[in-house]
Amino acid sequence: MNLKIYNTLSKEKELFIPLDKNLIKMYVCGPTVYNYAHIGNARPAIVFDVFFRLLKSIYPKVLYVRNITDVDDKINNAAKELNEPISSITNKYTDIYHQDMDSLFVLRPDIEPKVTENIEHIILMIQKILDNGYAYENEKHVLFDVTSFNDYGKLSKRNKEEMLSGARVEVASYKKYPGDFVLWKPSENDDPGWDSPWGYGRPGWHIECSAMVDKFLGQEIDIHGGGQDLIFPHHENEIAQSCCANKNTKYAKYWIHNAYLKMEGEKMSKSLGNIISIKELLDNYDGEVIRLALMSTHYRKPINFGESLLEQSKNILNKLYKNLEYDSNDDTISKDVLSPLLDDLNTPLAISNLQKIKCSKTLLNSANILGLLNRSKDEWFSLNENLSISEEDIKSLIKERDEARKSSDFKRADEIREKLDKNNVVLEDVKGKTTWRAKK
Ligand SMILES: [Zn+2]
Repeated sequence: MNLKIYNTLSKEKELFIPLDKNLIKMYVCGPTVYNYAHIGNARPAIVFDVFFRLLKSIYPKVLYVRNITDVDDKINNAAKELNEPISSITNKYTDIYHQDMDSLFVLRPDIEPKVTENIEHIILMIQKILDNGYAYENEKHVLFDVTSFNDYGKLSKRNKEEMLSGARVEVASYKKYPGDFVLWKPSENDDPGWDSPWGYGRPGWHIECSAMVDKFLGQEIDIHGGGQDLIFPHHENEIAQSCCANKNTKYAKYWIHNAYLKMEGEKMSKSLGNIISIKELLDNYDGEVIRLALMSTHYRKPINFGESLLEQSKNILNKLYKNLEYDSNDDTISKDVLSPLLDDLNTPLAISNLQKIKCSKTLLNSANILGLLNRSKDEWFSLNENLSISEEDIKSLIKERDEARKSSDFKRADEIREKLDKNNVVLEDVKGKTTWRAKK
C-alpha cells in the first residue's frame, strides 16, 4: 500500500517511507489549556486522528504523541483574572478538552505529556543547545541564536528579512538579534517557575515540543503535524532547537499542516464575535455531524464552516446509517474509500465514495477508518429523530409567529416559540429571517 503525503518541507506530494516500518512515530502540537477549545481547534485534532487511524490500518505499531501546554502567559493571565490557582484552570480545561475530543470521536494519543511534568528534560535540552554553541545567556534569559543556524527558514521558505517583517518579532535588550527567540525566561512574583542553571524561571513556548519529541519519541520522527499557522515561527524554531541539540538529525521527515477554518465566509476572530466553542456546537449538533463537516473539505484547503455545512453533513450521516443493516467483525475496507485516503488524505472523495457502498459490513469498516458510524443504526436514529412535530407544522407556526411579531403581538410570538421549544424545535432569528433546527 502506497501512502502519499504532501510534505511542507519539500512542497511536494511524496511517497511515505517510514524511518522504521515496525514503529511509526507521529507528533502533533496540542492545546494550550486556559479556555474552551473553539471549532478551529477541532480541525487539526480530527485531521491527525484520521492520519493516525489510517497509519494504524497499514503499520503494526504507531506511536502518537500530542502535548498539553500548561505553562503559558495566557494561562497566567486567566488565573489572575479569575483569582484561581493555575493548576485548577489547567486541570479544568484539560478535562473539558478530553470530553470535547471524545464527543468528536477523536482517539486519544498514546502519550499526552504536560509541560509542567517535563521541565527537567526541557532544561536538559536547553543545556545541550547552549553547549553546542547555538544559544546564549543574557539578563537571566536564554536565547536561541538564529544567526548561528544556517538552515533557519528551511520549512517556511523565508529569508531572514522576511522572517523579521512577517512575525511579531519582539525587540528586547537581552537579544543580540531581533529574530532570536526565548528558550528560558525569568519568573517573578506569582509566575510559575522552576530552578535552573540560569536562575528561577520557566521555558519559552517553542522548546517544549522539541523536548517532548526528544523524550518520548527520540531524536528523529516520521510525521510532525499542526495547523498552518504554526509553520512560522513555531515549527521553524522546533527544527532549529532539535537539530542544534542533537547533531546529525533531520528531526521530522514529513511535515503536515492543515488549513484554517472560516465561519460562513468570514475569518474567525474575537473582534467579529464569531468564535464558537466546540462545547456550544455540541449542544446543538451531534459529534459525528461536526466531525463529518470538518472532514468534508480536503485538509489543505480552508473550510467554510456554518449551518448549511452541518445540515448537509447530518443528511449524509442519515443516509449512511440507513445503509447500515447490521454490525459485523468483517475487516474489509472498501478500496474506493482507502485509495483516496492514501492519496494525501482525500477525505471528501472518501466520504463521497462511502455513500455508494451497498454492503453494510464493508460500509461499517470503511466508515470506521474515518471515525464515522460509531453507533448502531437504532441508536443514531433515536438520537437524531426526537421531533414530536411535523416539519409542515413547524413552518406554519413560524409563519404565524412572523405575522404576530409584525403586528407587535409579542405575547403570541413568545407562546409559539415556547410551544416549538417543548417539541424540541429551536428558533433562530438572523437578519430578519427565522430558521429552525432540532435540539439534540
Ligand atoms: Zn509544537
